[in-house]
Amino acid sequence: MAHHCKYFIAHCIDFRFGRAIKDYLEKEGLLGDCDIVSVAGGVKNSDFLLEQLDISVNLHKVQEVRLMNHIDCGAYGGSGKFSSFEEERAFQIEEMKKAKSLIIQKYPSLAVKTILAKIQPSGEVIFESINA
Ligand SMILES: [Zn+2]
Repeated sequence: MAHHCKYFIAHCIDFRFGRAIKDYLEKEGLLGDCDIVSVAGGVKNSDFLLEQLDISVNLHKVQEVRLMNHIDCGAYGGSGKFSSFEEERAFQIEEMKKAKSLIIQKYPSLAVKTILAKIQPSGEVIFESINA
């Protein structure tokens, strides 16, 4: 029997996002309707990401992709690697843009959204939708 879902989401393995990502998926109506790829660096390994997306598209006929990278990602060397928050933010947005363009080249009909996650000093996680 065919079983389909609407969304595909890729995010970092970082444990600090565990609860927040579950809440995000629930709030956005994705929980139970998405394939989830959790991999260090989010979109960093685009070959792996595309491989997973191929399976998701062919098997579950997903229609929308959400790419989520985050600030202070250890897979990219953490915030210390950047001279400012703005520089790091721009870098992560660029990373997601590159992944988005690879996905659209291969699957022009897929909607692709990018989200930047930030951990607040309180531990709360803010999800910023990026129009990139
Ligand atoms: Zn990370």
